[in-house]
Amino acid sequence: MHEIHLHNTLSGKIETFVPQKPGQVGMYTCGPTVYDYAHIGNYRTFVFQDILRRFLKLRGFQMNHVMNLTDVDDRIIANAAKAGVGIREYTEKYAQAFFDDCKTLNIESPEHWIRATDHIPEMVSLIQKLQAESYTYPSEGSIYYRITKFKDYGKLSKVDLTGIQAGARVDNDRYEKESARDFALWKAPKEGEHFWQTAIGAGRPGWHIECSAMAMKYLGETLDIHTGGIDLAFPHHENEIAQSQAATGKPFVHYWMHAEHLLVEGEKMSKSLGNFFTLRDLFAKGYKPSALRFALASVPYRRQLNFTFDGLQQATSSVERLRNFAARLKNEKFAAGSSAEMAARIKTAADDFDGGLSDDLNTAQALAAVFDLVREANIAMDKGEFRQGEVKPALAFLASFDKVFAVLDDTDAEKLKALGFGADDAGIGDAEIEKLVAERQSARARRDFAASDRIRKELSDRGIILEDTKDGNVRWKRK
Ligand SMILES: [Zn+2]
Repeated sequence: MHEIHLHNTLSGKIETFVPQKPGQVGMYTCGPTVYDYAHIGNYRTFVFQDILRRFLKLRGFQMNHVMNLTDVDDRIIANAAKAGVGIREYTEKYAQAFFDDCKTLNIESPEHWIRATDHIPEMVSLIQKLQAESYTYPSEGSIYYRITKFKDYGKLSKVDLTGIQAGARVDNDRYEKESARDFALWKAPKEGEHFWQTAIGAGRPGWHIECSAMAMKYLGETLDIHTGGIDLAFPHHENEIAQSQAATGKPFVHYWMHAEHLLVEGEKMSKSLGNFFTLRDLFAKGYKPSALRFALASVPYRRQLNFTFDGLQQATSSVERLRNFAARLKNEKFAAGSSAEMAARIKTAADDFDGGLSDDLNTAQALAAVFDLVREANIAMDKGEFRQGEVKPALAFLASFDKVFAVLDDTDAEKLKALGFGADDAGIGDAEIEKLVAERQSARARRDFAASDRIRKELSDRGIILEDTKDGNVRWKRK
């Protein structure tokens, strides 16, 4: 196994990964703001952090992973007030959609799913600590963080602080890099909108204080890893560092990892360009969850991902190729014995796979190791050179690949059905398929080709493809 190297945004370098406690990883991921459906750009980041956690688990680390739902911010409070409902009621639908989407993309649940609105007391006490250390000042009912007092401000995002005016404030949680300013920790209540009555006054939390308070509650004052999309590095993560380190005097995070942007057909995704997609938009077009996960995972996270429909089609075929290979290993009969050459080939593939992922999660390199082996093993099978002795090690390698990539199980149809897609044609269950396949086999055995063809057509009409193998068996798969 290779030493794990990760890129740290803070140092700008690739570093050897050493967690604080051997064998354990404390990791925080900024989750979605649940005021709308998350889009595929968001899911690029969530799939990246899922690949990261799954790889660390495969390497034997015990994860303590926290992901938050930002269920309070200016947009949510304003939208809920407009709709005349409570915040929890307003966000519930989008929170549930997010959980469903994660399940559909095989994104594992972190050890802690938490909501910002359940942690107001922790935020208040963190702000009180900052008040005690004079990092804050009040203005018009709000409380601001004085960034000129924090000497490390800007080190993560390399924001240029020359010319920053002391005391220039910003109330908007999301602002441009050119305007580094004192930001609101606590915001004065607005007429007709939700607020909390607390020891620091009436109001609501700023976005940045939420993550500092929640991360430290579950993971302690210093985290091993903090992940997010690159657009969060400034101002959000910069402000998280300023808040947390000013309060504790300790480093907040050892490894900051950021996923690059996603483009759609070479352009920035935007609603006005008509290239803005949620998962559901793509499922409605007939694409499969496994293909989407594969497409999002296959480009290394620090490279910009150009999402295209051609690419999604290729991802569909790639997943199919892997599933077919797994099915060949399981179903075909190979000559007894073992081939030293193929045994060595499988070992090399496993080593290259680990080497790729250990190299700052180079998923492209890891996948190349898998597909090279699949190609060579398929050729060996076609020539009758693959031996029974290599079935087990090959399947074991595929299993460890799938612990990270999670695309081999053909559960696409049922997942889509659960989301309300493809309900009409996805109705045929595995047991019924097996029964029809067996009927067709016996029809062929008695040379009743009309019956055999009729069953093949029926299955095809219901979305099932049959493949007759050389040894007289049949494989089936969903279209
Ligand atoms: Zn955050």
